[in-house]
Amino acid sequence: MTSVVSESIDGIRDVLSRAGESIVIGGKPGPSASGELIDTHDPATGEAIASIAAGGAADVDRAVSAATRALGSWQDLSAAARARILYDIAALIEDHAEELATLETLDNGKPLTESMFLDVGIAAEIWRYYAGWCTKIGGQTLPVSPPVGTSFAYTRREPLGVVGLIVPWNFPLLIASWKLAPALAAGNTVVLKPSELTSLSALRLVELVNEAGIPPGVVNLVTGYGHEAGQAMIEHSGIAKISFTGSTATGQRIVTASAASLKKLTLELGGKSANIVFPDADLAGAAEGALTGIFLNQGQVCCAGSRLFVHRSVHDEMLAVLESAARDIQLGHGLADGTEMGPLISPVQRDRVEGYLRSGTEQGATLVCGGQRPHGDLAAGNFLTPAVFSEVRDDMRIAREEIFGPVLSVFAFDDEAEVLRRANDSEFGLAAGLWTGDVKRAHRVAHQLQAGTVWINQYNMLDPAAPFGGYKASGYGRDLGEESLLGFTQTKSVWVSLD
Ligand code: NAD
Repeated sequence: MTSVVSESIDGIRDVLSRAGESIVIGGKPGPSASGELIDTHDPATGEAIASIAAGGAADVDRAVSAATRALGSWQDLSAAARARILYDIAALIEDHAEELATLETLDNGKPLTESMFLDVGIAAEIWRYYAGWCTKIGGQTLPVSPPVGTSFAYTRREPLGVVGLIVPWNFPLLIASWKLAPALAAGNTVVLKPSELTSLSALRLVELVNEAGIPPGVVNLVTGYGHEAGQAMIEHSGIAKISFTGSTATGQRIVTASAASLKKLTLELGGKSANIVFPDADLAGAAEGALTGIFLNQGQVCCAGSRLFVHRSVHDEMLAVLESAARDIQLGHGLADGTEMGPLISPVQRDRVEGYLRSGTEQGATLVCGGQRPHGDLAAGNFLTPAVFSEVRDDMRIAREEIFGPVLSVFAFDDEAEVLRRANDSEFGLAAGLWTGDVKRAHRVAHQLQAGTVWINQYNMLDPAAPFGGYKASGYGRDLGEESLLGFTQTKSVWVSLD
């Protein structure tokens, strides 16, 4: 292990040593009821870095009870007092940015600069954005039609109660924050379950939330496996809503299993996003956007631009640029200087991605570069070199299924109507990008793309104010923006007799 890595680990050794007590209920950390642990690994080296508590149904039950008891203490606070706590959480995240970013990189593998500026930086802004909303959740006065002067009606936006937040491993702190902050701003109490692969930043975040003075039990953390702790949450009758981000397959299981208790659901699921380069685009900008669109976070991004459609007249030129840039991407430990891309999250994920690489070649696509396990220092980690496929047909598995890895498929197209049809020919509809110098075409195409987010002449932009979520099999409901906040409320109409 390099010295930079061991020095960084020294800085967070305390947190690692507390990981076995990662069930935080009523403000108090502890082990799981079963006493079982799950090892969490550094994906760049394969080494176990800590063991987290493996929570189950008994822990979820205790967490839901604590969250139910805490509803009064949270909702009795004035909106301004709740806002102050959320602002304090944002400030604490910034004060601990380096520590949080190091934890994230060590647990997830992504380069430290990404953890710092994207995960931790945006997480803090999200807390601040929703802190502002605490004092702005209003209702409406309604133009009802009984005889004039006899009745008056208005709406109130009320919290749902206890909500369950289940998050994946690709942006652990960021996604936990973008669910926690609006849920709390709206007056709910929470049980949070991070991925069993990356729970460390959630543990530290919940510690900071409690340090900010949130009443005990308002935010509870149950770490553990999806089929145990996660399943117990979706079956628990005391949870009013599940906000879930993860795979489409798990999302479908959640819909079925939560039917008995008729939970409200927000589901942010998989994607197979199209990124379209028209011939009048700034090609250098488009190439750069295509590269970050697919290789950010090792391609483990739900909105990754994994299908790149390039106009035939510029296709070969663009492919050459992409190949050369992909070959230059520096792989390494996320904590090491100069690293541009880290490892995949786990050996299982790497095997999965390699299965897609094989299938692409078997079905006749051309692997232009990448898709190899590096040798030497990186051999023990879950690394794969960034891969680019050309000659991909729309019906191949690599063109239709979410790979969730550093694999770009490049397609040629001839005209706008054709590329729109092909871009929309997907079961998913999370995001899309398009590159053009023609403002009319930009909006015309953006309006017709079936996706919850469309980027024009940029890719992967994210902001607390902009709703994020999918069309079609990419899910329903929205994270971020006002829409997420409203999704953590229910509307009550109040009628008043004036007679
Ligand atoms: P996953 O579905 O395997 O797991 C997500 C979370 O659900 C984890 O916390 C897991 O423990 C839990 N879980 C698993 N089985 C469960 C069950 N039966 N009941 C309740 N909870 C259960 O997904 P993942 O592999 O962690 O993440 C990758 C997936 O997430 C990709 O498909 C990606 O597209 C998707 N994703 C979507 C978005 C979005 O905003 N749309 C963002 C990030 C990731």
